[in-house]
Amino acid sequence: MTNTDVVVIGAGLAGSTTAAILGRAGIPTTLIDPHPVYPPDLRCEKLDRGQIAILHKTGLDGVALAAATFDGAMRDGKAWIARFGRVIDKRPGGQYGILYDDLVNVMRSAVPPDVSHIVAKAVRITTGDTHQQVALSNGTTVSARLVVLANGLSVALRDQLGIERTITSPCHSITVAFDIKPGFGKAFDFAALTYYPERTSDRMAYLTLFPIGTSMRANLMVYRTMDDPWLREMRHNPGPAMFALMPSLRRIIGDVEVVGPVKIRPADLYVSQGHRQAGIVLVGDAFASSCPAAGNGTGKVFTDVERLCNVHIPNWLASPGMAADKIEQFYDDPVKREYDEISKSWAYRLRSMSIEEGLGWSIQRRLRFLIGSAISAACKIGVLSDGNQFVPDGWTQRLRDRT
Ligand SMILES: Cc1cc2nc3c(=O)[nH]c(=O)nc-3n(C[C@H](O)[C@H](O)[C@H](O)COP(=O)(O)OP(=O)(O)OC[C@H]3O[C@@H](n4cnc5c(N)ncnc54)[C@H](O)[C@@H]3O)c2cc1C
Repeated sequence: MTNTDVVVIGAGLAGSTTAAILGRAGIPTTLIDPHPVYPPDLRCEKLDRGQIAILHKTGLDGVALAAATFDGAMRDGKAWIARFGRVIDKRPGGQYGILYDDLVNVMRSAVPPDVSHIVAKAVRITTGDTHQQVALSNGTTVSARLVVLANGLSVALRDQLGIERTITSPCHSITVAFDIKPGFGKAFDFAALTYYPERTSDRMAYLTLFPIGTSMRANLMVYRTMDDPWLREMRHNPGPAMFALMPSLRRIIGDVEVVGPVKIRPADLYVSQGHRQAGIVLVGDAFASSCPAAGNGTGKVFTDVERLCNVHIPNWLASPGMAADKIEQFYDDPVKREYDEISKSWAYRLRSMSIEEGLGWSIQRRLRFLIGSAISAACKIGVLSDGNQFVPDGWTQRLRDRT
C-alpha cells in the first residue's frame, strides 16, 4: 500500500501536467499510467498563444516550448491566411508545433523525481469523505486524500463511480493529419498557412500547415461521417484527394507530395454527469471533450490543471476531509466555467459557420474574414501591437469567436 496526498490516474497531458505542478509545489503525489512512455497518438499538434498564456501560469511553458517548433522562426516568419486560392493576409507567426506524444513526454520529464510514477492501470477506485483507495493492475493499492481522474477518453473507471458520459454530438468533427513535402527542388515560401473552404458543401473547417522540426505538418479538419468515400480516398490517395477538395490550394503551395501515413480520427463531443462526488475530481478529457477543429482542448486541459493545482488543491489539503462541497469549488470555478462555455460554443459555431447554408451564416463567414483582416491591419499600422497578445486569455477565444 502506497500512501500519498494526491493520486493522479492517467499520465496524458492533463495528468502529467498536474503531477509536475503538484510535485514542484512539494505536495506528495503519485502518478499512475500503464504506458512507461506516452505512445504516438493523433491529438493536438500545436499550441497557440492563448494556450501558452494559460500554461505560463503553471511555470511549465518553457519546458513545452523548448521541445516545439516556433513558426515565427521559420522561413518568412509569417502565418498566411488563404481562401479561394488567394492569400488574403500574412500575420506574424505565433504557434508552436509539437506532436502530441512529444508534448506529453516532455511534460512527464518535468515531473520531479519525488513524485512516484507507477506503471500500471488503475482498475478500481473507492472514494469517501476522507480517504480514497485506488487498486492497480499490478496488485498494489494507493491510498490518498484526493484522486485526480485524468484518464482521458476511457470510461470504465467512471462507470464504476456512477459518472455518466453523455455524447452531445457524435462524430462532431474529424481530424486528418499528414506531412507534406514541396515539389522537387522547391521550398515553401510561408512559415505556416491556414486555408479556408471554398464552398459549404466541402464540409471542412480549414486546413492548417505548420512546421514541426524539418517537416511541414498538415491538419485538415472536416465535418463528415467516417464512411464518407472522400475519407477513403484521403487514406489511400491523399494528394489527389486533398486537391480535389481544395482545387485552388495548388496555386499557393504548388504540387506537393504527401509523405508518411495519413492519420484520420473522429471526435465526439461529450460531457460528464454525476461527477460532483467526494474525494475525486475529473480533469481534461475525463471531464468533457472538445472539438479538435475549434482547437481549444489543450487550453481546456491547461485551464483545468492550472485552476486545480494553483488554487483548489492547496486549499483543500489545508483542512481535513475531501467532501463533495470542496470538490464542487473546482467545477464552479468561474475561470474554468468560462473556458468550458467558450470551448463548447466555439465547437458548434465553427461547425455551423463552415457548413451551414443561409444568409445569416454567409454574412458571418464574410464578417469573420473582414474582422480578421481589420485586426491584422491594425497590428500592421501599430494601433494594436499584436492581435493575439493584445487581448487577455479568455478574450483571445472571444475574439476568435468573432473572427
Ligand atoms: C483527433 C484529435 C485532435 C485534436 N486536436 C486538437 C487541437 O488541434 N488543439 C487542441 O487544443 N486540442 C486538440 N485535441 C484535444 C486534446 O488533444 C485533448 O483534449 C487532450 O489531449 C486531452 O488530454 P488528457 O490528458 O485529458 O487525455 P489523454 O492524453 O488521452 O490522457 C489519458 C491518459 O490516461 C491513461 N489511462 C487511461 N486509462 C487509465 C487507467 N485505467 N489507469 C491509468 N491510466 C489510464 C492513458 O494511458 C493516457 O495516458 C484533439 C483531440 C483529438 C481526439
